[in-house]
Amino acid sequence: MRLSPTTADIEFEQTVSAFIAEYLDPAIQQRVANSMSIDKAMQDDWTRKLAAAGWAAPNWPVEYGGTGWSMRRRHQFEVLMRRHNAPETQGFGFNMVGPAIIQYGSAEQKAYYLPLILNAEISWCQGYSEPGAGSDLASLMTRAEVVGDDYRVNGSKIWTSGAERADHIFALVRTDVTAKKQLGISFLLIPMTSAGIRVEPLYAFNGKRLWNQVFFDDVMVPRSNRLGAENQGWTVAKTLLGDERLMVSRVAENKRILARVRRLLQDTGLEDSVLASKAAQIEIRLTALEGTALRLLSRFDGGGKVGAEPSMLKLQGSQLVQVQDQLLFEIAGLYGLPLDAESRQTPSAPIRHDAVDMIGSALFHHRGYTIAGGASEVQRNIIAQQVLGL
Ligand SMILES: Cc1cc2nc3c(=O)[nH]c(=O)nc-3n(C[C@H](O)[C@H](O)[C@H](O)COP(=O)(O)OP(=O)(O)OC[C@H]3O[C@@H](n4cnc5c(N)ncnc54)[C@H](O)[C@@H]3O)c2cc1C
Repeated sequence: MRLSPTTADIEFEQTVSAFIAEYLDPAIQQRVANSMSIDKAMQDDWTRKLAAAGWAAPNWPVEYGGTGWSMRRRHQFEVLMRRHNAPETQGFGFNMVGPAIIQYGSAEQKAYYLPLILNAEISWCQGYSEPGAGSDLASLMTRAEVVGDDYRVNGSKIWTSGAERADHIFALVRTDVTAKKQLGISFLLIPMTSAGIRVEPLYAFNGKRLWNQVFFDDVMVPRSNRLGAENQGWTVAKTLLGDERLMVSRVAENKRILARVRRLLQDTGLEDSVLASKAAQIEIRLTALEGTALRLLSRFDGGGKVGAEPSMLKLQGSQLVQVQDQLLFEIAGLYGLPLDAESRQTPSAPIRHDAVDMIGSALFHHRGYTIAGGASEVQRNIIAQQVLGL
C-alpha cells in the first residue's frame, strides 16, 4: 500500500485548497472550526458551490453528476474538506438514499430525485429504527398495506435525526406480515408533508433537539414511491450504504478535532504538558487508524474483496472522537470553563470564548457515535465472528 502522496495527489490538494480559499466564507469556517452548528441555508449554499464544481457527490457515478473518484481520492477530498473546516453536505441524501436511488430507482425516480439532492433542493431523514427495532432492525413493525395504487402506512419511527427539517423520509415498512421477517419489508420514499405524519421532538442530554419520533397514521403513499421491488426493502437497505460502509473511519473528522486540540494547547501554553502527551498518543492512534483505512480503501480500489473489516474502522473512529472530546474538556476545564463568558472575551483570557463554548456540548453529542450507525457491542460481535473467526 502506498503511503506517500503522488504528484497527482499534490496537485489535487492544491486545486481543492484553492477552491476553498476562493468560495468558502471564513465566518462559516470559523464556526465549523469551533464545532458550532451552521444553518441549513449556509450548508445548502456550500453544497451548490460544490455541485457547480462537480464535487458535491464524490461517491456518485459521473453519469449522475458524481466524480467517479477512487475511494482513496474520496478519502483525500474528505480530509481536505474537514481540514479547511468546510461544512458537511447532507449525508442522508448524498451518502444514503442517493446511492440507493442510483442502484434501485426507476428511470423516473432517478430523473426526479437525483438533481434535487445534488442541488440541495430536497432534504431527507432516515426512518429505520422503531421503538421495538434498533440493532435487530428486521423486527420493524411499521405496516404498509396495499390500497389500490397506494400503501396505507401506520406505525412509528424513532431516533429520526433531522425529521423536523426534512422534506422526505426514506422508510423501511412491513408489507408482508407472513413472510420471514427480512423478506416482508419494503423501502418507501415518503414526503413529510403527507397527511397523517406527525413529528414529535426528542432531546439529547445537552438539551438539543437531536432526534424525533415520527408517527404515521393512515398515511397514503403512492406505490410508485417504492424503491426496489415489493418485499425487497431489506436488500435495498443492506446495500444502501454500498461503498459508504468503507467510509466510516471518521479519520477526517478526527484530524479536524486534533487540529483544534493542538490549537488549544498552543493558546494555553500547555505544549509541554501531560495533556500534550495525551494529544501525541491520540495522534499515534489516529495514524494507525488512517493506515488501516487506507489499506482497506486501496484493496477495494484494486478490485480486492473487503468483508466485515470496516466495523473496526467504525469502532475505533467513534471511540477516538470521544477520547479527543475528553482531552478538549480537560484543557478547557483548566483554562477556560472556570471563566464566565464576559471574562473569556477579554484579550488576556487564556482561551477565547468561541474556542471553548461548544466543547461541553460536543462531549455530550459525540457520545451518540457509540450507537449511531451500529452500536459498538454489535461491531465487536461482527469483528469477533466475521473478521477474527472466533
Ligand atoms: C445520534 C444518533 C442518531 C440516530 N439517528 C437515527 C436516524 O436518523 N434514523 C434511524 O432510523 N435511527 C437513528 N438512530 C438510532 C440507531 O440506529 C439505534 O439507536 C441503533 O440501531 C440501536 O438501536 P436501539 O437504540 O434500539 O438499541 P438496542 O438495539 O436495543 O441496543 C441496546 C443495547 O444493547 C446492545 N445490543 C443490542 N444487540 C446486541 C447483541 N446482539 N449483542 C450485544 N449487545 C447488543 C447495544 O449495543 C446497546 O448497547 C440514531 C441513534 C443515535 C445515537
